[in-house]
Amino acid sequence: MAKELFAIFGNPVSHSKSPLMHNLAFQGLSYDACYTRYLLENGSTLKETFSNLKLKGVNVTVPHKEAAFNACDFLDPFAQKIGVVNTIIEKEGKLYGYNTDAPGFLKAISEFKEIKTVLFLGAGGTAQATSVILKDEGYEVTLLNRSEERLKKYKVDNFKTYTFETFEPQTYDLVINMTSAGLEDDSLPAPKEILDTVIPQAKACMDVIYGKETAFLKLAKSHNKPTKDGSDMLLYQGIIAFEYFTQSSYTFESIKSYMQKAFIL
Ligand code: NDP
Repeated sequence: MAKELFAIFGNPVSHSKSPLMHNLAFQGLSYDACYTRYLLENGSTLKETFSNLKLKGVNVTVPHKEAAFNACDFLDPFAQKIGVVNTIIEKEGKLYGYNTDAPGFLKAISEFKEIKTVLFLGAGGTAQATSVILKDEGYEVTLLNRSEERLKKYKVDNFKTYTFETFEPQTYDLVINMTSAGLEDDSLPAPKEILDTVIPQAKACMDVIYGKETAFLKLAKSHNKPTKDGSDMLLYQGIIAFEYFTQSSYTFESIKSYMQKAFIL
């Protein structure tokens, strides 16, 4: 069998850890494949690019996850439901689409115990898939966003939503920064007065940003809360994608043992 080729499509894509994560696992598990990155400028060329590069599978990142949804011939039921695809595999000339961001996130938060109510700070693309899977799993999700616009679709789906101006704090077991606030600077995802109300009552706090201690996580730690950044979420979505790429040939834990080395290199 010829060596299989995989890639990540995104724009930008140079910062992505996915090539390192997947190549470490391919190498460690002696699976004859290679994973590269590809700067895809125009999402409408996704299918043609996939075919021209003779790829076996891809991960898709910002801003092409909806284009990936549209490019697939078959969708798994969860990807179909949320309209967002981040993993595609080719089988007999057809493209099959999945979303591994949401189950990866679910696994990352399941390590916090006795969580029922969750407050999302932010309502962008990452919140979209993750809010649906949490709701499906029986969590109560509330969204707090800086501006009204992005909350509209969540209202339609019967989530509780607030802006900073309309917020009526309740008790939340888990508070998660789903915004990009703190990624490039030290800003907080919501006014400090709001955070100082919800964090002390929470059992734990999480940030989807990874690789740095954000101002939000620092604040949570100052309230002595257990915290985690977005590394596990990133790792777990990668492991689930790898399971699709290799058609479940390996256990989650065996993939993890190699893939997690990407976070210490
Ligand atoms: P989007 O651009 O889709 O949404 C951004 C969200 O952040 C919006 O709700 C926006 O609010 C809010 N926001 C941005 N800046 C601020 C600010 N200064 N103060 C308050 N709110 C702000 O982003 P994504 O959902 O794609 O990404 C969000 C984060 O998730 C990023 O930091 C990204 O790195 C991270 N991420 C992590 C992953 C992982 O595996 N760990 C995977 C994917 C993403 P408004 O509507 O008012 O503009």
